[in-house]
Amino acid sequence: MWVKALDLLLDKMKRAGLDFSRVRALSGSGQQHGSVFWRKGASETLKQLDPDQDLNQLLQDSFSVSDCPVWMDSSSTQQCHELQAAAGGALRLAEITGSRAYERFTGNQIAKLRQTRPNEFQDAERISLVSSFAASLFLGDYAAIDFSDGSGMNLLDIRTRTWSKICLEATAPHLDRLLGTPLPSTSVLGPVSSYFVQRYGFSDGCRVVAFTGDNPASLAGMRLQQGDIAVSLGTSDTVFLWLQQPRPALEGHVFCNPVDWQAYMALLCFKNGSLTRERIRNECTEGSWEHFSASLRDTPLGNNGHIGLYFDTMEITPPAVGVHRFDGDDNEVSSLSPQVEVRALVEGQFLSRRLHGERLGYSIIPGTRVLATGGASSNKEILQVLSDVFNAPVYTIDLSNSTCLGAAYRALHGLVAETGVCFFDVVKKAPEPQLIVTPHPTAQEVYDTMLRRFARLEERVLQETRP
Ligand code: ADP
Repeated sequence: MWVKALDLLLDKMKRAGLDFSRVRALSGSGQQHGSVFWRKGASETLKQLDPDQDLNQLLQDSFSVSDCPVWMDSSSTQQCHELQAAAGGALRLAEITGSRAYERFTGNQIAKLRQTRPNEFQDAERISLVSSFAASLFLGDYAAIDFSDGSGMNLLDIRTRTWSKICLEATAPHLDRLLGTPLPSTSVLGPVSSYFVQRYGFSDGCRVVAFTGDNPASLAGMRLQQGDIAVSLGTSDTVFLWLQQPRPALEGHVFCNPVDWQAYMALLCFKNGSLTRERIRNECTEGSWEHFSASLRDTPLGNNGHIGLYFDTMEITPPAVGVHRFDGDDNEVSSLSPQVEVRALVEGQFLSRRLHGERLGYSIIPGTRVLATGGASSNKEILQVLSDVFNAPVYTIDLSNSTCLGAAYRALHGLVAETGVCFFDVVKKAPEPQLIVTPHPTAQEVYDTMLRRFARLEERVLQETRP
């Protein structure tokens, strides 16, 4: 399906009249964590592709596993336990690979496939991620896994940027041979294969720059810089962070940074985002976002000490459930007035985003920008609270296709990266995000103190609700 999609895409671009000879470099992104198992002999096939045929026809017999594992699979719990035991525990594994063991992470998927489908596993000569698989098609050879997408496997040591021996051995014998050597995300892997030159008219000087995962590519597309934080306020809330000194934890994921090899990035997911805001809107402000916004306008920063933690469904970060409201003396209370409840929800959500970001090594620095996207980023009052909690200006950006855009920026950067030119110099002419709100003068004083209280109260909720 993926190969056929590429055939269709390129045929459409050709019919639309794109002059492929003008493309100097290309890169791409793939859904994180998925894997492709190339059958023995596939590398020879890749090197001699007949430009008169579709890739789909040519590669029919090139895969030892036809139903590739993707991120949605969560059936490898046993392999996760085995990996964590081998690494010396969940936290130790997170310190090495940037994340504790997750079912969808590629290493655990590989371990499961080896155990449950040994014949197909034996028949593989190479394992790619979705990203490096797509790069391999353009390269006509196996493409390296890049450091950034490689960080989503529970196999890469994110500090040495080499495969972790402990993790490899716990996953499958001689796995390093199947994975190849990982490379920096900015690497030029080589020229596009003659198949694309002859079939589509690419120039034979067109470079293939390492492909990466969709989340790292999105970070590049947003041009996130040191100190910046991107907050996506969709159905769930997702936070992207630029990290200089990561402190991997049991929650969240730390990846090598796709645009600066010395830096890192982190991802945090919060399940109780817009749907919880909608519930409180319906209960407290008659289903109106205008009234919801008015409640935020009419209540003071810090909410006179009231704090709320709202986990309508089991939260990911942190793993807690239930609604917990506190007054200014840390006493749990059963209800708050509607206006106070609205502010307690929004402040609580953003304090949590900041707390868990800082636990992974994030810090607010002079010049920090908060980039907001997603449905709720149209609400200025919500963004004002976000700005106040982070004591930083909030900008909005259009995130549609940020992964594709990031891939294009990275291709451009790949052409000059070896000469030491930084990513941001290459993309400085791109459109700037739009400034929406700036923090209130008292914000830092209010929320620095409140964050410490929030951390204590969250810990208390976790202790009290732990099964
Ligand atoms: P996703 O892409 O995750 O499905 P979106 O980014 O499209 O979600 O965001 C949808 C959410 O945006 C809705 O659930 C809704 O609660 C929220 N939303 C839309 N308009 C507003 C608004 N004015 N204020 C607050 N939230 C809003």
